[in-house]
Amino acid sequence: MRSFINAPFFFNTSMIIVLSMMAMTMAAEARPSWIKGSIEKIEKEVISSHGDAQSERLVRGMSQVADFWRDEDGGPEVFEAFVLDNFAMDEETLAGMFSRFESILEKINGSIHGMSIEMRRQADLDLGPILPMDRVFAGYDPGAHIADDLFANKLAFVALLNFPVTSLDERLTEGTKWTREQWAMARLAQRFSRRVPAHVNQTLSEAGAASDEYIADYNIWMHHLLNDRGERLFPEGLRLLSHWNLRDELKANYADNEIGLEKQKMIFRVMERIVDQTIPEIVVNNPHVDWNPFTNEVATAAVNDSGEEAIIGMKVTADREPDTRYEILLGCFRASRLLDEYSPSAPTLIARRFDEGREIREEDVEKMLIKVCSSPLVKKIAAIIKKRVGRDLEPFDIWYNGFRSTGKYSEAELDRIVREKYPDPAAYKKDIPRFLSLLGFDENKIDDISANILVEAARGSGHASGGEMRYQPARLRTRVGKNGMDYKGFNIATHELGHNVEQTITMNYIDHTLLNGVPNTAFTEAFAFVFQVNDLMLLGLNPDRDAKSEAMHVLNDFWSTYEIGGVSLVDMRIWRWMYDNPEATAAQLREAVLDISKDVWNLYYAPVFGMKDVYLLGIYSHIIHSFLYIPDYAIGHMIAFQVKEQMKKAGNIGSEFERMSLAGNIAPDLWMINADGTPVGPDALLHATEEALKDLK
Ligand SMILES: [Zn+2]
Repeated sequence: MRSFINAPFFFNTSMIIVLSMMAMTMAAEARPSWIKGSIEKIEKEVISSHGDAQSERLVRGMSQVADFWRDEDGGPEVFEAFVLDNFAMDEETLAGMFSRFESILEKINGSIHGMSIEMRRQADLDLGPILPMDRVFAGYDPGAHIADDLFANKLAFVALLNFPVTSLDERLTEGTKWTREQWAMARLAQRFSRRVPAHVNQTLSEAGAASDEYIADYNIWMHHLLNDRGERLFPEGLRLLSHWNLRDELKANYADNEIGLEKQKMIFRVMERIVDQTIPEIVVNNPHVDWNPFTNEVATAAVNDSGEEAIIGMKVTADREPDTRYEILLGCFRASRLLDEYSPSAPTLIARRFDEGREIREEDVEKMLIKVCSSPLVKKIAAIIKKRVGRDLEPFDIWYNGFRSTGKYSEAELDRIVREKYPDPAAYKKDIPRFLSLLGFDENKIDDISANILVEAARGSGHASGGEMRYQPARLRTRVGKNGMDYKGFNIATHELGHNVEQTITMNYIDHTLLNGVPNTAFTEAFAFVFQVNDLMLLGLNPDRDAKSEAMHVLNDFWSTYEIGGVSLVDMRIWRWMYDNPEATAAQLREAVLDISKDVWNLYYAPVFGMKDVYLLGIYSHIIHSFLYIPDYAIGHMIAFQVKEQMKKAGNIGSEFERMSLAGNIAPDLWMINADGTPVGPDALLHATEEALKDLK
């Protein structure tokens, strides 16, 4: 995981959901009526005094300013004076503006990040009790108003007047010919390509909390599920969150040869009832009722395994959940529409996700996903799974996880080794130069990189937080218990270290700080995984990876990509449907989600599983509250394979890591062409899978 708590101020990733219908009723914010006349007037003036060398740039710049100019920013005289004062008439002035913007924005980001880090210290680190005041500090975003301020004092307009706001098409086509500086200029303008009023942000974040709450509270009490014989298959007290815990329990049951399959079928039925909303509302997060998910009968719980007192006067009915799941999703959609009019270069959530976030065209992502899901390799792997489970496939076998081989070291043994070596964060920190050396990083840079990384004991599971200005420390946070680090903590720390090294290289050694980082999260995850899979080697153990266990790993990754690829296609089609049907009710959306899930299943899964009209793919909680984020997981697998295969080909991790990452935050396809000669796509994954199948023969 990479921390985005301190993401630069302009892209507030936590802007979420809204419940209101404001988006439907609010008129689009139009440019002031006089502005067209002012633009024409200034263009004429400038051409007559300076010639037309800069006129194309000037007209584009004025138009970009006009997109965001509001009446409160001033009338025609203010606008005209602003343009004449702030338009760079020559290259030298423009270059000066650019370098000042780049340097100052770096300092702003770094300073805000430094404040956030301090204010979140008590909440993020393992430092004892959290007081109410610590929570307030942790929730306080010192950068929240900077974007507003920079529009109010017109510095944002200076950037918009002088540097081009580009479309994804421009970046993907003309971007191949741009210099590094032109890329940095494009990134500069992009930072101001949205001007969201405070009330919209406010409503968005308030409503965001509501959707997170819905998902976070959606538990099923498993001991209260009854089969047709009235038996309880699951242990007392087991409470599982939909869908993650339900899915993980389903996976764990592959190891249960007695009633594993029966439990899996029951979980599958529960999931279906959540998707189609036939689930009795009363069973959600309630240990006081028993439920047979097959017949849908409910009754007052015959056992109490929760330690909670019975609810007096509770009326036990099988009334279904009234499409709340889809009401919440509609809330997300309406919230996103609310933002549309303030984001002229990406006026839908779909465009913001694909054109701005991923920078891969929606249709290209779709093609990549379909290529995996319809690959002939799927049937070959399905045949292997069928043999291994000894039965025909069931729909939930999309989560088959039996390809992972157990290592030769037991968890307890590894815990002991790690504890001895790393009693505290300082011991781990001291070993970082050795890790980097083992991974093949440039010996001349190892000390510099290592010095930039702080290791701290996290309160939660762990995260990596990079610096936001040059030589601001990157922070590696992981669990360190009283008795030292355990193996799980070490494994996570090694993953986070991969992020920290990427963050350090792409901030400290990059040519333009406006290009720091990677094109999108999938890239830094790929680097983190390269570190993580080498954790045993870094511990000084022989991981003993033979060709067969390597091949099993590859099949596991392919099968996960096939699974999440289908869910991604469902997610994308749902958002398209919502934009096509903006007035839809929750009930209509439910029907649409069922249809879409079935359609995708029938296209890419029914031919493999031999079963039609399954809507299991709709169970993902991310569909409900993650705003079209799911395709990133599938793309992430593909990118990880490209990066891994390239490192294998080059025979070195460290030097390739540095070479690839120094491309920085340019378009993903250009980054990947620099890395391995090809655009982002599934071919490396498919190729590795083919090879793995050969190795297993
Ligand atoms: Zn990560």
